[in-house]
Amino acid sequence: MRAAGRIVAAVLSDLEPMVQAGVSTRDLDRAAERMIRDAGGVPTFKGYNGFPASICASINEEVVHGIPGNRKLNEGDIIGIDCGVTYHGFVGDAAVTIPVGKISEDVQRLIDATKASLYAAIEQCRPGNRLGDVGNAVEAFVAPKGYTVVRNYCGHGVGRAMHEDPQVPNYGSPGKGARLRPGWVIAIEPMVNLGNYDVRVMSDGWTVVTSDGLPSAHFEHTVAVTEDGPQVLTALDIHAAAP
Ligand code: MG
Ligand code: MG
Repeated sequence: MRAAGRIVAAVLSDLEPMVQAGVSTRDLDRAAERMIRDAGGVPTFKGYNGFPASICASINEEVVHGIPGNRKLNEGDIIGIDCGVTYHGFVGDAAVTIPVGKISEDVQRLIDATKASLYAAIEQCRPGNRLGDVGNAVEAFVAPKGYTVVRNYCGHGVGRAMHEDPQVPNYGSPGKGARLRPGWVIAIEPMVNLGNYDVRVMSDGWTVVTSDGLPSAHFEHTVAVTEDGPQVLTALDIHAAAP
């Protein structure tokens, strides 16, 4: 799972400098698929329930599951890129939200808070803690800043399949829910909105957008629960400290 996660991390890291005005989401998808296959992996998303691409590319008010296509990035956009890789039968799943050129301070703060909320949740991934502690860490971090947490979508267990039990919501009550055990691997993926938490699915059947049209940010890591604490499997260096 570390090997799968490392490929995901490398792909997201290599895509980041490509995120520039004028680049299409299809360009990013093609580059991602090439990198995944060159590394000996398989793009987990491609064909998943009929999804046609190797990454999800979600721009501005698109929360998750955007389908790559002809749309070109504009200066001031933000793009969420979600990537899954299967390597020797195991899956890694991670996402980042990246600004396109110069973005507004409001939206940069949303991105920063969403990323920090992910690391607050990762910090809770210790044996004996509960899923409610993980979800609460996200919401407790972002809610005081006036942001909302998407409730209709959540994180998940990861293993030989991308989506395994348990569900990992980005909200919850401390001390409630299933107890985390060493050997668990979960994807934690806060989706945080600048406005209301309400979302809907577009007519393409995939793209999730905020109902109020305001921007949303998404970060995700695949995290192993160990006796020694959390290990972020979808990092280039799993021993690196949280930013
Ligand atoms: Mg993902
Ligand atoms: Mg996921």
